[in-house]
Amino acid sequence: MFADVYISYPLDEYYTYRIPIGINISMYCRVRVNFAGRNITAIVIKIHENEPKDFKVKEIIDIIDNEPIFDDRLMDLARYTASNYLASVGETLAMALPSAKKPSSRYTIPFKKSENRQGLVLNEEQKLVLDQIMTESGTVTLTHLIFGITGSGKTEIYIEIAKRLITQGKSVIYLVPEISLSSMIFERLYGVFGDDLIIYHSHLTPNQRLYNWMRFYRGEAHIAVGTRSAVFLQCPKLGMIVIDEEHDGSYKEHSTPRYNARRIALYRSRAEEALVVMGSATPAVETLYACEKGVMKLHTLKNRYGNASLPEVNIVKIKSTKPKHVISPVLKLQTKRAIDAKRQVIYLLNRRGFAPIVICNSCGWTVECPQCNISMNYHKDRRMLCHYCGYQQAVPSICGRCGSEQIDKVGSGTQRLEEIIEKEFADFSIFRLDQDSSRKKDTVPELIERMNRGEVDILVGTQLVAKGFDFHNITLVGVVLADIGMNLPDFRSTERIFSLLMQVAGRSGRGDVPGKVIIQTLDDQNPLFRFIRNHDYYGFYRSELEVRRMLNYPPFTRMARLLVRGSNEDRVIASINALKQAIDEQVKPIREGISVLGPSSAPFGKIGGNYRHHIIIKSGNVTTLQEVIAASRSAVAGRDVYLEIDIDPYELM
Ligand SMILES: [Zn+2]
Ligand SMILES: [Zn+2]
Repeated sequence: MFADVYISYPLDEYYTYRIPIGINISMYCRVRVNFAGRNITAIVIKIHENEPKDFKVKEIIDIIDNEPIFDDRLMDLARYTASNYLASVGETLAMALPSAKKPSSRYTIPFKKSENRQGLVLNEEQKLVLDQIMTESGTVTLTHLIFGITGSGKTEIYIEIAKRLITQGKSVIYLVPEISLSSMIFERLYGVFGDDLIIYHSHLTPNQRLYNWMRFYRGEAHIAVGTRSAVFLQCPKLGMIVIDEEHDGSYKEHSTPRYNARRIALYRSRAEEALVVMGSATPAVETLYACEKGVMKLHTLKNRYGNASLPEVNIVKIKSTKPKHVISPVLKLQTKRAIDAKRQVIYLLNRRGFAPIVICNSCGWTVECPQCNISMNYHKDRRMLCHYCGYQQAVPSICGRCGSEQIDKVGSGTQRLEEIIEKEFADFSIFRLDQDSSRKKDTVPELIERMNRGEVDILVGTQLVAKGFDFHNITLVGVVLADIGMNLPDFRSTERIFSLLMQVAGRSGRGDVPGKVIIQTLDDQNPLFRFIRNHDYYGFYRSELEVRRMLNYPPFTRMARLLVRGSNEDRVIASINALKQAIDEQVKPIREGISVLGPSSAPFGKIGGNYRHHIIIKSGNVTTLQEVIAASRSAVAGRDVYLEIDIDPYELM
């Protein structure tokens, strides 16, 4: 007997191995094989008796699984994912499946079961949305967006739908963006579903992941909560995939295959007739556009759950980014007032500024590429560079808006903001949460406990503080410098900063006392702030959509990014130029409706010793994009250069 197997290499073919006599192997199991001199894991996709004629067949070394760990549906999903994102089926399967050899004998969820969560009471608005989604399940409309302001109670609706589907014998996958911040939601779902729940994310050990995968696959548990890779979990009958905070960038995978869990969920919805319910207070522009086009059904929650009201947002212009000006008198005063009243404060430090931008220190104006409408970065020798199309110009000597001569580089030195805050409020208890500290296992639980006990006066942190927390005693949110992040060389930077500011504002005033938000900026005339002050998502959406339409960015086109990286920059540049030439050859006969930008050095021009250069391709037809790339990718060849293909890139840094 012989087995056809896929291996996790970027190779399109499957390979045939002999099954040793007396060994029982079934389809859709993992085995060990020797491939090109190395012992590796392989996935059996077919068993047959046709001995290959043209080469000597090797024997399978070992069996990993004694029973199948997936079925045809994952095979189909892997083929779709591989072809959509130009990866191999083997790589895709290896990414989707758990990697451990043996499941851990037991996995206990580290939460206590709480009792009083069982009886949720939905308000009228929530009931209406629930009924609409339930009546339409089983009909044509399977995909839904719940657009609900922060604190409007989307979670209660997901839970109610999940309970009903599980009663019908179906399973539910519940996706959340960040593991580190999800312990609150895990605990809450465990309170409702108990041992019918499994958790699936990268903080589990591989053995625990395999154990949980198998429980969900066999139908021993009916609800799975996890991060993006949980979208591939298999179950007897899929009822729904929930995508909470659907706008969040963490649903996009950063290595091959660079899938977006939203797109995978939509495919599974069609293939397995399951509901997809997405939710957000700041839906992605592309998602709301899909609703307007009738691809998804939109439901709106306009009121905050309980009696909470939306916070009052103040935009405060600061004089400069110098240490003595960066905390404005009004922010200082309001912070002290809030803490005196035994309330808590969040400070958001947006620290995405990496490559220096040139900004007018008097009005906040920045230099944009005339062709791409994205911020240009300070490059070298007083030159500015557009990281999309490669356009360059000299650093202007006066501000293009107000004529001031105070234009200068910013973007570095923001680390000092923490020190400034700590010095300014030395009498208060400050908790710092950033990407690094949140990776440590205990940081977030410790933060939650200390916040709830009232031991923290000011929570200072980066983007993370904007997400997911539901602290009821916060009455002030301060955004220290909104300008950073507003001017990243990425067409989504406006959307991202808008969403971030709306989300962080939503952390304020979730309890009985109304909240305040103070956003500090050099450029208080930026129209974005008007939308934020008025909590006007649609105003933002319409203005952003217009820009995207004018400049032909998604949702009006599909995009791909090809990035070449390597330690020798000359080789990287030679490769990207060869790639560009190959693409041009492909594009020439079909020139209409396809545009090629670059090559240019990527905004992060060098990461970990690797130089990075990229090309961006746009076309309304994704198949065209895929074909052009498939036909030209071999132009990047050699040991020391690597090509990264990203279809529908989320970040262009
Ligand atoms: Zn100016
Ligand atoms: Zn440009």
